[in-house]
Amino acid sequence: MISLNDVKAARERISDIAHITPILQSEQLSTLCGNQLLLKSEHLQKTGSFKIRGASNKVIHAMEIGAKYVTAASSGNHGQAVAYVANKYGIPATIVVPENVSKCKVNAIQAYNGKIEMCGTTSAERLPRAQAIADQESGVFIPPYDDPFIMAGQGTVGLEILEQVDHIDAIIVPIGGGGLISGILTAIKETNPKIKVIGVEPEIANDTYLSLQNKKITAIDSTTTIADGLRTNQPGDLTFPVLMKYVDDLVLVSEDEIRQAFSFVMERTKQLIEPSSATTVAAAMFNKLNIQGKNIVTVISGGNVDLDKIHQLLVDITE
Ligand SMILES: *Cc1c(COP(=O)(O)O)cnc(C)c1O
Repeated sequence: MISLNDVKAARERISDIAHITPILQSEQLSTLCGNQLLLKSEHLQKTGSFKIRGASNKVIHAMEIGAKYVTAASSGNHGQAVAYVANKYGIPATIVVPENVSKCKVNAIQAYNGKIEMCGTTSAERLPRAQAIADQESGVFIPPYDDPFIMAGQGTVGLEILEQVDHIDAIIVPIGGGGLISGILTAIKETNPKIKVIGVEPEIANDTYLSLQNKKITAIDSTTTIADGLRTNQPGDLTFPVLMKYVDDLVLVSEDEIRQAFSFVMERTKQLIEPSSATTVAAAMFNKLNIQGKNIVTVISGGNVDLDKIHQLLVDITE
């Protein structure tokens, strides 16, 4: 398992590349939620999500041990982050994407000089392809979450929150494969275990929820949740034990609740966040947390939305 020292080492390693993102506040959101709500704003991070933290920690480490080439299998935020970091350090990256990938996502990866390779439609097809390209080219495959360097990198979000906010009662974190929350859990619980860390999943992507209930990794069928960063269908072998050890609670939100939170944040705070991040606000807005009158930090994990899809996410929020 990773330790607080791994997260601190990650922070050093990535300090030249990742922004220290701001904590935003909205009085209207706080009033609506009955808690002081603070938004850790990784939608304002380089490449538009926290994924740059884990990706840069892993890529820099790979280069330290001689890598001259990296690959990843993700059309989303992880793929963009790996392409960005590789480009910044002057090594080539190939990003394996599904055949039905959107034009915006391809553009974003190519803007960072990432080479695109299309392969199948499932991650079961893409992962071995990305691994095989890495092996052929004596490169390193950069996994999206189930890796100690990725987890430690994502955990730097937790270290920053500790420095930026006094009197934190709880931190709310979205869960896909669990890289982000396992890093944050390590940073927080090994510094101040009194702070609660609560995970959020969509009701229709509840693999980690079920795994915690069953006390073993449990997979779900593929899901179409609008929170596309959270579509992973099971937690990782390395991330899950950290959740088992440390997580305080895991709550679920519906697709409609995610849309309402997305629309509320857009209208009232003027921030463009992505549906995966809106899950944390939804958990606070719809009283899933069983906490009142406290200081709550919601991790806004990213802000990458295909502009031509925004209208599908907006709902009427007038009461
Ligand atoms: C990847 C991602 C997540 C989930 O992170 P995991 O480490 O897979 O749990 C949440 N939000 C956004 C925006 C993401 O890109």
